[in-house]
Amino acid sequence: MSHAQTIQDSLKPIVALCKRRGFIYPGSEIYGGFANTYSFGPYGAELKKNIKDLWWKTFVRSRRDMVGLDGPILLHPKAWLASGHLEGFNDALIDCKACKSRFRCDHLIEEVLGEDADGLSVEEMTAKVRGQHVKCPKCGAQDFTDARHFNLMFHTHMSKTSSDGDIAYLRPETAQAIFLDYKNIVDTMRVKIPFGVAQIGKAFRNEITPGNFVFRVIEFEQMEIEYFIHENAWEKVFDEWLQAMHKWCELIGLKKSRVHEKEHPKEQLSHYSKRTVDLVYDFPFGRSELYGLAYRTDFDLKRHAEYSCTKLEYTDPETREKFVPHVIEPTFGVERTLLALLCDAYEEEQLENGETRTVLRFAPCIAPVKVAVFPLMKKEPLAGKAEEIFAQLQAIWACEYDESGAIGKRYRRQDELGTPYCITIDFDTLENDTVTLRDRDSMKQERVTVKDLVSVLSEKLSR
Ligand code: ATP
Repeated sequence: MSHAQTIQDSLKPIVALCKRRGFIYPGSEIYGGFANTYSFGPYGAELKKNIKDLWWKTFVRSRRDMVGLDGPILLHPKAWLASGHLEGFNDALIDCKACKSRFRCDHLIEEVLGEDADGLSVEEMTAKVRGQHVKCPKCGAQDFTDARHFNLMFHTHMSKTSSDGDIAYLRPETAQAIFLDYKNIVDTMRVKIPFGVAQIGKAFRNEITPGNFVFRVIEFEQMEIEYFIHENAWEKVFDEWLQAMHKWCELIGLKKSRVHEKEHPKEQLSHYSKRTVDLVYDFPFGRSELYGLAYRTDFDLKRHAEYSCTKLEYTDPETREKFVPHVIEPTFGVERTLLALLCDAYEEEQLENGETRTVLRFAPCIAPVKVAVFPLMKKEPLAGKAEEIFAQLQAIWACEYDESGAIGKRYRRQDELGTPYCITIDFDTLENDTVTLRDRDSMKQERVTVKDLVSVLSEKLSR
């Protein structure tokens, strides 16, 4: 079995659940699909929103040293010259001459030879592929082109004509928009170093070999922070952000044992970075990058200052020292967060009665639905009472109302969505004003009085 097949197989149950239960659909499906694009269905959209809202609350609203920004996707083309992306944002691609399959050369080497190809030049990669007689994973031929650079930026044309001069690039990372507005923020926000600017937004990369579901796609969202500091503080700030990133992983409920650090060796660092540590996660297809933390030095601000002929400095209010701030950049991918959460939460549990239940054990803070409300029967007076309770809870949490099918089936439906609590309104409710509260993980049920329901749920959902 080829590596590509193993990858797909290991994710299959999750991909199937995502389609079946409205988390993620293949893009443009009615037109036969559009490779490597996905649509986030109703529950996927909720999940994504919960991730982004929680991130914003954690890193912007709960801190006094952070502000937010929502910059444009299209930046002045010169910005990409200054940032080094036009010249250096490349991957090496290689083609099989026999079957015309295209590969990212470093991935091909990793997959076939099991060797790390990060940091090798295209010439070195070609020599490796030829010298070690690498076979095409698709057709088995040993007939590859030379490896060559491929720029990952999508481009488009501005205005009516489509001459080269009008090319604009879709941003491949959100970071640059923050550097372009550094001066505006310093001039308008009375920020004091150290301070950070956070942004959530789309980024686009013409990946040579996208794949592993939403792990590597061509259109995705990033949650990025550029944290501006005095050069002297970089080591301390770097460590603080590394800890903050681990804490975030815990907050969203990722198992600690599956999150690891991967230090980039010096010779493999990006052109702008003096130190990079990735947080890698044990996905079903292997340990892969979830987030990155980079010390970008003063590279970006200096380059933009040079290319835009604008001073991008900071004056210390006490010492009057003028300097170009250095930058620590924690970066988080939304889709990779979502995929890690799905992989982490997914379980096929064997029950004592011999059945298997599929359950997503999401932390309540990110679960797309927090509470589901079921009337035991569709009919009055149960339905009226259930709707009344539903309206009360829906004003506070994302709730779902389900009145069809046996209660056991309704529980299973919610288990598959990761809903932490279900409430059933039955004939006892009419007698003594209590409902059944069922816990997703233990499947235990307890009776709770209607008047205590909001406080009991608030306490449980905040855990
Ligand atoms: P990789 O080595 O996997 O290509 P990268 O090192 O190029 O990733 P960064 O440039 O550091 O990634 O991007 C920051 C974050 O954006 C990543 O940690 C990841 O979470 C996310 N990301 C990057 N590329 C993609 C993609 N093609 N699809 C989905 N998310 C992505």
